[in-house]
Amino acid sequence: MSAETHPDLTKNQALVFGSLSDAGGPLTAYAILDQLRGDGFRAPLQVYRALDKLVEYGMVHRLESLNAFVACAHTGCAAHGAAAFAICENCGDVSEFTPEKAMDLLRTWTEQQGFQLSRTTIELRGTCKGCASNN
Ligand SMILES: [Zn+2]
Ligand SMILES: [Zn+2]
Repeated sequence: MSAETHPDLTKNQALVFGSLSDAGGPLTAYAILDQLRGDGFRAPLQVYRALDKLVEYGMVHRLESLNAFVACAHTGCAAHGAAAFAICENCGDVSEFTPEKAMDLLRTWTEQQGFQLSRTTIELRGTCKGCASNN
């Protein structure tokens, strides 16, 4: 997804989304800040503000276990409520997929509990296919 398909993005949001898209993998807010210093970014708060909105729009996901952010791999999947990530602990590769069957189970549980689910992010930690076959 390009910034042009989201006309409501501010300049800062577009810059942050651009650097995450170009990275092709997760970045911490500080790594984004380092990349954007030449574009007028001075403080982590500017990056966090932009990231908050991009996460809200569904264009960026937050990876809690890495304390990092990643551009959504699915074009036009804004506002998809569930995303799963397989994170390689060796090379840092991150693959996004939609955990449909797992979500069916989780939705059943939340409905039974009366829990109001707003967002689900599943993080799988391990070794990717490429790294596993090199060992
Ligand atoms: Zn996504
Ligand atoms: Zn790997």
